[in-house]
Amino acid sequence: MAIEKLLIANRGEIALRIHRACHEMGIRTVAVHSTADADAMHVRLADEAICIGPPAARDSYLNIAAIISAAEISGADAIHPGYGFLSENAKFAEIVEAHGIAFVGPKPEHIRTMGDKIEAKRTAGALGLPLVPGSDGAISDLDEARAIAEKAGYPVIIKAASGGGGRGMKVCTSPDQLETLMQQAGSEAKAAFGDATVYLEKYLGNPRHIEIQVFGDGKGNAIHLGERDCSLQRRHQKVLEEAPSPVLSAAERERIGGVCAKAMADMGYRGAGTIEFLWENGEFYFIEMNTRLQVEHPVTEMITGVDLVREQIRVAEGKPLSVAQDELRFTGHAIECRINAEDPRTFAPSPGTVTSYHVPGGMHVRVDSGLYQGYRVPPYYDSMIGKLIVYGRTREGAIMRLKRALEEYVIEGMKTTIPLHQALLKDADFLNGDYTIKWLEDWLARQG
Ligand code: ADP
Repeated sequence: MAIEKLLIANRGEIALRIHRACHEMGIRTVAVHSTADADAMHVRLADEAICIGPPAARDSYLNIAAIISAAEISGADAIHPGYGFLSENAKFAEIVEAHGIAFVGPKPEHIRTMGDKIEAKRTAGALGLPLVPGSDGAISDLDEARAIAEKAGYPVIIKAASGGGGRGMKVCTSPDQLETLMQQAGSEAKAAFGDATVYLEKYLGNPRHIEIQVFGDGKGNAIHLGERDCSLQRRHQKVLEEAPSPVLSAAERERIGGVCAKAMADMGYRGAGTIEFLWENGEFYFIEMNTRLQVEHPVTEMITGVDLVREQIRVAEGKPLSVAQDELRFTGHAIECRINAEDPRTFAPSPGTVTSYHVPGGMHVRVDSGLYQGYRVPPYYDSMIGKLIVYGRTREGAIMRLKRALEEYVIEGMKTTIPLHQALLKDADFLNGDYTIKWLEDWLARQG
């Protein structure tokens, strides 16, 4: 089937990103937006725009009935969910497909499996992905927990099966704390997620976060597009991402990438996915799989030349992947800075009206952002207002280009995290690629 009109069920920079891919493919676009987003860039550029509700996401971007109605009214034959919002909602994917509309994403059953942490871990293990040692599923019995913790070795981490966003986790350093922490974790999980189920795994002391981009055609063929290093995080939120990882060799990439691609082929996975690992002492440990396009996908596009959104749309049309594994080349280095409308020291949200705007340009510089002069950043949503992505032949070259591009980037009318990135790019550890998931918070604490 050929998609002729696609509804973008998202907002902000990712909605614009999807619109751009569609127009490059000759596909018309339908923007759906809340009343707060009537002036958004992607709404202006889309071929049609439909207001689906008030600002609160639950009444607009999460309102399945309104989105399906908009698709029917506009005659859209596909829906792209972007990231966040409904992108990992298996029920939504099912409803879309039940209406005869193509869902630009994985099969609903795969979204469901990977959305359940215990089920995801079990599936990953069965597919041959390396796991963090720990319990094989839910754990309720204290003696069993003790035995598993003993075997994995302390410290261990107790995690909520229904957890998310880095919440619902307890680190346990010795056997005598285990009972109390298990009880606490269970009751906190019940309160936060309505499910007291917990499981247990070894706590890695100082790992990196390295994720593998995968892509499947849904018919048993799959490839990997290398890794992204997303270790620079604050409160489990990624701040800056790069590809390739400063610590991975080509042989290691090929090995772990091969394992991931084979797993996706065996599963019959469809579309884009990211397999997230913690990496410590040269070993990979699966933590979760995201069944959607990621915020940081452009760094992969920069080093492979593959347009991931175009690929997603092709696969949704039932077409084969446009590149084979042995045709893919990883060249150069790409870095992405997430730019948030936040105070760069306190991280307090700082939405406002853009009074002056100048985007950096030049060779190998990409800005994914819906900002323009006069645009008012609404206070209701995520504070990310744009992404600056650069490419260089080497990591050093990419860093120099990023510094230059950040100097050029002018966003007036609100505080942004541009100064944070500028400071980060001067740090010797960053320049050496010498950082783990703990590093940024320690660095921020040192900045005072
Ligand atoms: P969520 O779905 O809540 O984001 P994840 O399982 O992806 O949960 O874990 C979130 C973060 O918690 C990881 O990026 C890492 O920083 C930390 N974490 C999770 N599991 C472990 C572990 N076994 N050892 C050390 N840190 C962990």
